[in-house]
Amino acid sequence: MTIATAATTSPRTTRRITGLTPSGRLQLGNLFGAIHPTVSDQHGTDTIVFVSDLHALTLDHDPRRLRAATLENAGLLLAAGLDPRRSVLYAQSGLPEHTELHYLLECATQYGEARRMIQFKEKSAGRAGVRLSLLTYPVLMAADILLHDIDEVPVGEDQSQHLELARDVAVRFNARYGKTFVVPRAVHPRLAARIMDLADPTRKMSKTGADAGTLFLLDPPDAIRRKVMRAVTDGEREVRYDPAAKPGVANLLEILAACLGEDPTRLAGGFSSYGQLKAAVVDAVCEVLRPIQARYGELARDPGYVQAVLAEGAARVHGRAQATVRRAREAIGLI
Ligand code: ATP
Ligand code: MG
Repeated sequence: MTIATAATTSPRTTRRITGLTPSGRLQLGNLFGAIHPTVSDQHGTDTIVFVSDLHALTLDHDPRRLRAATLENAGLLLAAGLDPRRSVLYAQSGLPEHTELHYLLECATQYGEARRMIQFKEKSAGRAGVRLSLLTYPVLMAADILLHDIDEVPVGEDQSQHLELARDVAVRFNARYGKTFVVPRAVHPRLAARIMDLADPTRKMSKTGADAGTLFLLDPPDAIRRKVMRAVTDGEREVRYDPAAKPGVANLLEILAACLGEDPTRLAGGFSSYGQLKAAVVDAVCEVLRPIQARYGELARDPGYVQAVLAEGAARVHGRAQATVRRAREAIGLI
């Protein structure tokens, strides 16, 4: 009796979910834009993080690389401070309910809705052999979220439209078949920094970018030095934070600011040459990566550890995922 009252009156902790697609090796932008915010949020929220290996199948992929990236990404999340006793970490393909719910939600999503997604248009334009899963990817993303009764989803600009679709599908399903899903809301993490590609500072640094412009989290110090020292700047000499006129220099200042937790404009005043700024960036990035790489090295000594964490994470949420799918199956009319 007492327990039932407590359970119904005390609000549960806000539940958040974050997915990282193992489309390539994690880079510095992923650390500042996604991993650090998740790691610091895990103390105040009920955090679920999954490596979305199924999403990585929507574009041309290499099976061996996908397997390696899935394990590497998971290991790096742990090395960067995700605590598997506090948060749930698992691989999306390790929880078959994702795909089961995906199909049920496809039956509550219109073709026109999927086709209108900006990211589908961008990623499919001018390509041959576009996979059908690229079109239905946002429905799988809706399943990822609705499976766990998620309250909040941290999303960047590029995922806002997909989250809207997830909400629309949840609301429609609930209205048509009876209350089945928690309707999630988007939260927009304060943008620490949008790190740009070192070789082309007008493009975002990304896992699938070219090696020369991307600082991977497992790059050794000499690779970091080489890439930063060759970073594109401009023909001037003055170190000034001006993203429109001086995107290369501004990016180096942003990286330094993100590493030190400082302000890029204020930092600019301390440098009298590009070479000096670049040397400071090399030191700061290596300093941020050193403890992560050291912990990753320790984890890698036991090849089974990361897989065991992923399996345990999936086991912890399996019951809830099964319950959600059962609710959806019954609501939609399956026996
Ligand atoms: P891909 O090339 O496959 O798109 P990506 O590196 O852009 O890879 P995503 O999987 O698209 O990574 O995004 C994962 C998370 O990392 C998102 O939260 C995104 O906002 C964040 N992120 C990615 N790149 C950057 C960046 N350059 N600066 C800041 N945040 C970033
Ligand atoms: Mg991206």
